[in-house]
Amino acid sequence: MPDAAARLHAIRAALADAARVAKRDPAEITLVAVSKNRSAEQIEELIEAGQRHFGENRVQEATTKWPNLRRRHPDVVLHMIGRLQSNKAEEAAALFDVIHSLDRPSLATALVKAGWSGPTYVQVNVGEEQQKGGVAIADLPDFLEAVRDLQITGLMAIPPAEVEPAPFFALLAKLVQRHDVSGLSMGMSGDYRAAAMLGATVVRVGTALFED
Ligand SMILES: *Cc1c(COP(=O)(O)O)cnc(C)c1O
Repeated sequence: MPDAAARLHAIRAALADAARVAKRDPAEITLVAVSKNRSAEQIEELIEAGQRHFGENRVQEATTKWPNLRRRHPDVVLHMIGRLQSNKAEEAAALFDVIHSLDRPSLATALVKAGWSGPTYVQVNVGEEQQKGGVAIADLPDFLEAVRDLQITGLMAIPPAEVEPAPFFALLAKLVQRHDVSGLSMGMSGDYRAAAMLGATVVRVGTALFED
């Protein structure tokens, strides 16, 4: 089995295990392969191994890589997971199927203007970190009210680095319940098992899928 396929199967198995421990249905958890900085060849190895959901964090990079790949693999689902500039909203709306990084009203306005109607996650700054994108927890109720024109599927977060992520995952899960959405986009290479146990419906895994 090629290495990429082996890594994919190992991560799928680990997610299924985590789901079982938490008494969840593994089918509730979507694995998004984060393919930023990876070549089309690396991506196609994973597609051949059965992976369908991919995530990119920059519109420009995605625009150079994905139109070709999409023609060859029309059933791929492409997720925008990085900070999105309003002036790229139109390009993003044309290229992506899901957006995980709605974090300010001006971006919502730009997306509505671009005709975007796909599943959208609101990014929450769960660690209240100054340098990080995301809506502050205290602002979340007003923000969700203000972006009602979009199809808000759920919440997304990137917990602070270098600290135990589980409390932040639990916090995001609580916010999802409180605000009556269902999608929970959380967990990366180092912590996708913990995220899956704490309710993630989407995990975004790059390094662990593409590197040994
Ligand atoms: C890069 C990235 C990931 C994946 O990170 P890994 O640690 O490589 O798995 C997940 N989410 C976002 C928003 C990213 O930018």
